[in-house]
Amino acid sequence: MHELGMAQDLFRIVKKEAEKNNIKKVSKIVLKLGEASGIEEGFLRHSFVDHILPGSIAEGAELEIISETLGAKCKDCGKAIENKGEAVMKCSGCGSSRLEVVAGMKVFVESIEGE
Ligand SMILES: [Zn+2]
Ligand SMILES: [Zn+2]
Repeated sequence: MHELGMAQDLFRIVKKEAEKNNIKKVSKIVLKLGEASGIEEGFLRHSFVDHILPGSIAEGAELEIISETLGAKCKDCGKAIENKGEAVMKCSGCGSSRLEVVAGMKVFVESIEGE
């Protein structure tokens, strides 16, 4: 399976960022990959390196993929909760089950470099 559609969406953001910053040639792309996003790093890298970057303004650019751990926040006491593998259902601070996932669910463009 390919993550091509997802990679194309991300690359659209890269191009927008490049335009905004007057970058004509992108030399580096940094992506953040949430560990619970369901996206595999190998596929994401393959989509970029083999399908998207060739012939684009980011041809030959370095691709850095940083993984982001799943994180949640308690809606009641505000305590930040880091997931260590298993799904956390309750706040370790106040016992509330009203948790909000704040990290680790998405893939996004962290930054780009170029000139
Ligand atoms: Zn392919
Ligand atoms: Zn709490």
